[in-house]
Amino acid sequence: MWIGIDDTDSRNEGCTTFIAYEMAAGFSQMMRGYPRLVRLNPNLKYKTRGNGALSLNFSENLKDPESNLKIGSHEGKRIEVSGEIVEYGEPDLDGRELLERIYSIVEKYYVRNQPDTNPGVVVSKNKFDSGIYRMALEREIPLEYIESVLIDTGSFYRKEGNGRGIIGATASIAWDRKRITYELLNYKYPNGGYIDETVKLRIGRIAESYGSTFNNMEETDGKVCLFPRDRTPVIYGIRGMDPEDLMSIQQEISEVYPEFGKNFMIFETNQGTDDHIIKPSEGKTLEEMASYVIEGYVVSPPGRRAGGHLFFTVKSGKRTVDAIAFEPSKGFRDRLETLRVNDFVRIFGSLSRGAIKIEKLEVLARALVYERRVPKCKICGEKTLNVGSLKYKCTECGFLQDPDYVRIVTESGCIRMEPPVYARRHLSMPWKLEKVNFPGEDHEF
Ligand code: ATP
Repeated sequence: MWIGIDDTDSRNEGCTTFIAYEMAAGFSQMMRGYPRLVRLNPNLKYKTRGNGALSLNFSENLKDPESNLKIGSHEGKRIEVSGEIVEYGEPDLDGRELLERIYSIVEKYYVRNQPDTNPGVVVSKNKFDSGIYRMALEREIPLEYIESVLIDTGSFYRKEGNGRGIIGATASIAWDRKRITYELLNYKYPNGGYIDETVKLRIGRIAESYGSTFNNMEETDGKVCLFPRDRTPVIYGIRGMDPEDLMSIQQEISEVYPEFGKNFMIFETNQGTDDHIIKPSEGKTLEEMASYVIEGYVVSPPGRRAGGHLFFTVKSGKRTVDAIAFEPSKGFRDRLETLRVNDFVRIFGSLSRGAIKIEKLEVLARALVYERRVPKCKICGEKTLNVGSLKYKCTECGFLQDPDYVRIVTESGCIRMEPPVYARRHLSMPWKLEKVNFPGEDHEF
């Protein structure tokens, strides 16, 4: 049986991953595989933070206790689940009863009386079609559509407020797991509290010392990016490609800081996978709220506007598209400012108000740029003077000649640019992962 949960938190309180953590700890004997933290459309206006939704797989017929998988710790006690993953199969639990049992955990922790908190919990016999996941990445799905899917599939659900939470809950169950990364989240309820900068730096360095992790620290200013700003139960989150490495990192941290060794769990995620990015077909209109990769020539040079945001325009086939890098992306804008008209670039980003918000960029070919220079006389080597009409006359022998043109050598080869770690989107694949073989890639179901 599949459980999906979403929209239980507010900006200043709670976190849906924490509710999933409490569920996993409370029902670990029924759980298969890692819990799943699935990021959905990053352009959605309703999102609290990163538009994340959660799902878990429960079963009563767990076979082999040897296949137990350690996924975390709850009050110092190991959370172990079955390592055997069954995507589809005969349901062996009563869905309605399961919904009531797990809902008690949602009721205990969801944030009350917030207009933007609309919890939804879904229990389904089977996974939903991965088309729902795609839809949830690319556009806004109407609530009525999801309700009709849940009714048609005989799923059970509960919703609070305007009920919107069931959209993300359903979409997270529909995740196709073509590309998988992991995140270890460490908790303290109700919030992580103050943590000294030296402690943060030490933890950041431990995480960074493992090559399989990503987005831990920003190289340019040494800023540690594992600790959320908001006051939620999350103390830190460490992202990586290898769950065993994440467990070893946690062990190292627990040895230095035993207070962080009690409550944590590893999630399977679609973070850092670029799953939201679509390659648009020629001639098709780009849709608002969807995210694309487009290739084209820079046709207007980058320039800054009010608020420090950087703009330029790209011609891609018959389309002309504006591209924007916002002020919080800091030094990324300086790198983008080196672009020149006629550079051929590949841009990744979402379409919002007719412009692509740049998530990363690759320069595929530099424009050939020549600069006009005053020539030396070709006859006697003396100085020349501009006499108009792009002609230069020698001051000594009077010889008339054209100006010199000198090729400006710019940075060449493959140039890749991306915002600092703290300004990246959860779904964006950092360049570091570009050549990585993602687990789950060959997965067919
Ligand atoms: P957090 O990251 O802390 O969990 P959040 O950023 O995920 O918070 P939510 O509070 O979950 O934000 O709010 C997002 C809301 O939008 C949820 O109700 C979710 O069901 C809904 N939602 C997510 N994706 C879509 C979509 N593509 N179309 C319509 N609604 C969506």
